[in-house]
Amino acid sequence: MKDKKVFLKNFGCQMNARDSEVVKGLLLAEGYKLVDDAKAADIILFNTCSVRQHAEDRVWSGIGNIKDQGPKKPIIGIIGCMAQNYKKEIFKRAPAVDIVCGPSNIDNLALYLEEAIRSKEQILGADEKTRRDDIYHTGFYEDKVHAYVVISEGCDNFCSYCVVPYVRGRLRHRDHAKILKEIKGAVSQGVADITLLGQNVSSYADGSVDFTRLLKMASEIPGLKSLSFLTSHPKNTKQELFKIMAQTPVIKKQLHLPIQSGSDKVLKAMNRGYTVKKYIEMVDQYRGIVYNGKLSTDIIVGFPKETEKDFEKTFSLVREVKFDAAYIFKYSSRPNTKAAGYEDDVLPEIKQRRHAELLKLQKEISRSKTY
Ligand code: SF4
Repeated sequence: MKDKKVFLKNFGCQMNARDSEVVKGLLLAEGYKLVDDAKAADIILFNTCSVRQHAEDRVWSGIGNIKDQGPKKPIIGIIGCMAQNYKKEIFKRAPAVDIVCGPSNIDNLALYLEEAIRSKEQILGADEKTRRDDIYHTGFYEDKVHAYVVISEGCDNFCSYCVVPYVRGRLRHRDHAKILKEIKGAVSQGVADITLLGQNVSSYADGSVDFTRLLKMASEIPGLKSLSFLTSHPKNTKQELFKIMAQTPVIKKQLHLPIQSGSDKVLKAMNRGYTVKKYIEMVDQYRGIVYNGKLSTDIIVGFPKETEKDFEKTFSLVREVKFDAAYIFKYSSRPNTKAAGYEDDVLPEIKQRRHAELLKLQKEISRSKTY
């Protein structure tokens, strides 16, 4: 495989960004070369996202744009969440694709590539499994200052709109000693700004080591300049976390706490597991303990059966809480999710109007915030 050129295009969230970095590290260790131009590549990989239809459409058109260069046709690999969501359906829809590899199988990607190149067969790797932990220790970092460090894979929350548990599998936590070893490895290379990453970091547990203890242990690593974490969940985020943030200078004073909706009726239909009242109490606690702590959130507008009244509740919650940043999305029905069975009854123009109104409000709030 020596010198085969690989082009990898990443789509989606921070978890995918870290997965793409891991894949690059693994392939470099196997002797592959990384190139920035797909036209110059022997192998083209798309690390895909399934969180919204739009993200998937970009991949299908990306595959379509790969010109068939006859005998020199590049090996095409679809990895990530779309690979797990559609598995061999991808080969039917895009026969030019050679490899389909789900997120839990990226530790076998080099084997799949070897097999695809040798056999010219289409290879599917989409088992539900835990990755080998050594994939996180290649020492390859794209960014020479900041790195994401995965602490948990998958999720057990089954929010009714979310595809993650179906594409990244059930929640499993990495061994805390291996996480700390990975951070030490990064810091020794000068990558001293670390973000701990999980779909729901609040639920991290490795024996008696919960998230707050892991954060404390990581914060004590010599040479670490900055430590942050993503994503917390309102249903199991604890006051202890806020206290450790306030007491520990190296921990960034920022919290990403997705609310998703300001209506309890919608939160129930989303299976989020908390109420607006509980969320606001948590925000007050956070702001009471973490001085000048930044707060950001995620919001979905246009969830099935969301009425104008429900939306007004979301709008007034945003006006009341005054987030530093809010990532606002229009609801997009996802295959396999519980909500895929609900009628997507909020009209696109209504979703668009609500999205625009909330974005405008958040822009005004972000502008008015000066620390
Ligand atoms: S917490 Fe909910 S929204 Fe977040 S990854 Fe898990 S199922 Fe998806």
